[in-house]
Amino acid sequence: MKYAVLGDIHANLEALTAVLEKARELGVDGYLCIGDIVGYNANPRECLEIMRLLNCEVVTKGNHDEQASSEMELVGFNPQAARAIEWTRRQLSEEQRVWMAGLPYRQTIGARMTLVHATLDMPHMWGYVFDKYSAEVCLGYQFTQICFFGHTHVPLAFEKYGTVVGGPYEEVRVQANHKYLINVGSVGQPRDGDPRAAFVTYVPDEHLVQLHRVEYDIHAAQGKIIAAGLPDRLAQRLGVGR
Ligand code: ZN
Repeated sequence: MKYAVLGDIHANLEALTAVLEKARELGVDGYLCIGDIVGYNANPRECLEIMRLLNCEVVTKGNHDEQASSEMELVGFNPQAARAIEWTRRQLSEEQRVWMAGLPYRQTIGARMTLVHATLDMPHMWGYVFDKYSAEVCLGYQFTQICFFGHTHVPLAFEKYGTVVGGPYEEVRVQANHKYLINVGSVGQPRDGDPRAAFVTYVPDEHLVQLHRVEYDIHAAQGKIIAAGLPDRLAQRLGVGR
């Protein structure tokens, strides 16, 4: 089995299409998603339909998915993100909203893997894991060997074997009795200074997690953001990966 783990797609159809093409090239035969399918970019309907047709084994809910599928007051979002969520609410069908609203915050697959968008301790509070200290808290609530997560849009891997170490990665060799908390990076709005789309593959039998970066038509995605009347800043940030 070779899984692709996708997250923080954020309605970026060009990035998602490029990532799925790469996944097919790599021989992926199972899909997992840690959430935030919508928000920020201009193709929420299309990205949602593609993700649903993929028949992912698990999709967990992101904070943008939660907000876009409800009429909740927007708290804790910057003004550009809030504008994009209001816009996204008007794009989705009722059926799409109901599907997103029903997604779980976290999900465990067998004895091996857990998926969550933000953190395991209080997944609905949307905290951030960005260093080994916040990783350690999250690892305290992790009862499988591997947990894939997202939310910061920065691919980092943390490993616990006694103490917690971690940082940027290209691949992780999974060792017995070690625990791993792995941020899969963002398909649709990377923020680590590399504008290419990010996702990981995981082959349980080979104990191997690999990060992949994929070029896509950023210019086309930016043009759609402007044409939709979404904030310019959301187009600009795709070009610099911030
Ligand atoms: Zn996100």
